[in-house]
Amino acid sequence: MMPTRRFLLALVALSTAACASLAGCAADTDGEDEEVSADGSGDGTSEDAIVSERQLMGNELPEKHIALTYDDGPGPRTAELAEFLAEKGIPAAFFINGKNVPGHQRAIDAVVGRGHLLANHTQHHLQLTKLSAEKVVKEVADTDATLVAAQPAGPFLIRAPFGAWNGNTARAVNGTTMNKYVGSVFWDVGGQLTSTAAADWDCWGKGVSIQRCGELYLNEIRTKKRGIVLMHDIHGKSVDMTKQIIPTLIAEGYKFVKLTDVPSVKRALGAASAETSGEGACSSATLGRSVPEDTCVQSRGDQKWYRCVDGDWAASAGAADTKCTQRIGL
Ligand SMILES: [Zn+2]
Repeated sequence: MMPTRRFLLALVALSTAACASLAGCAADTDGEDEEVSADGSGDGTSEDAIVSERQLMGNELPEKHIALTYDDGPGPRTAELAEFLAEKGIPAAFFINGKNVPGHQRAIDAVVGRGHLLANHTQHHLQLTKLSAEKVVKEVADTDATLVAAQPAGPFLIRAPFGAWNGNTARAVNGTTMNKYVGSVFWDVGGQLTSTAAADWDCWGKGVSIQRCGELYLNEIRTKKRGIVLMHDIHGKSVDMTKQIIPTLIAEGYKFVKLTDVPSVKRALGAASAETSGEGACSSATLGRSVPEDTCVQSRGDQKWYRCVDGDWAASAGAADTKCTQRIGL
C-alpha cells in the first residue's frame, strides 16, 4: 500500500459523510437534483496527487474560526462585496466561473486588489463527474487563464461545481499542467436549506427572506462553531445577507481566516509547493515526490525513518523526533 498523506486520511470519513447527509451539496446554485459523489471510487493511485479525490473541509479550524467563500461570480455586486469585506478586515475566497468574467473585469480587479483570493470554479459550472477527462481539464484550464492573468503567483485552488468530484476527475486534472491546483475545496456551512441551516441560492429560489436566510446561516455557524462557509456572490441578495450577518459574527467573537490558512487547505498547498519549488526539499523514492524540509518519511527500502535536512536525508527517530514537522509512515 502506498503511503498516504495525513490530510487525506483525516478527510476520508468527513467528505463521505458530508455528501451522504447533505442533499444540498449536490447543487450549490441551480438546485439541480443530481446525484453526486464527493467520495471517490478510485483505486488509490491518486492519493499522493495534489488534486485529491477527497475534498478539503474546515472542520479542523479552532472554535469560532470561519473562512468565507463565494461561488459562481463574478457578478454585478462582486466588487461591492469585495470592498465591504476588505473594509471590515475580512479576507474571502471567490471561486469564479470563467464564463462570467466578460464585462466584470472590475470585479476581478477588486477581489485581487483588496487582498481576497481568486479561485477556480471552472468555466461553465458543469457537473465534472459527467464529463470526459478532456472536457474536465478544459473546464479547469479555460478559467485558469483568467486566474493566471489576475493572480500569476497563485495559489491555485479549485472547487468543483455542485461539489461533484471523485477519483476520475482528480486523475484527469492531475495528468495535466492543471495539476498545480489544490482541492477540491468543499464547505462545512451553507450546503442545505433546512429549519436550522441555510443555502443562499435555495433561500432565494424558495422566497426565503434575506433576514431569515441570514438567521439560518448564523444558526448553522453557531452550531458547527467553525468551518468553510459557502455563499454565492452572483446573487445580489447574498451580498445583502453578508452585510447583515457580519456585524453579528464580529460581535459574537468570530475570527475570519483566509482559506489558505484552513488546516486542510494549508497542508495541501504545502505539499504542492514542495513538489514544485520547495527550497531545501527532498525527493522521496518511497513517495514518488518531493517533500518540504523537516518532513520525516519512513523508507520503503529499509523501513527506517529519515528527516529531510537541506535537500538531503538524515537519520531520524520518526515518532520520537521532535524536529519532524510531519511524519509519513509506510
Ligand atoms: Zn457553484
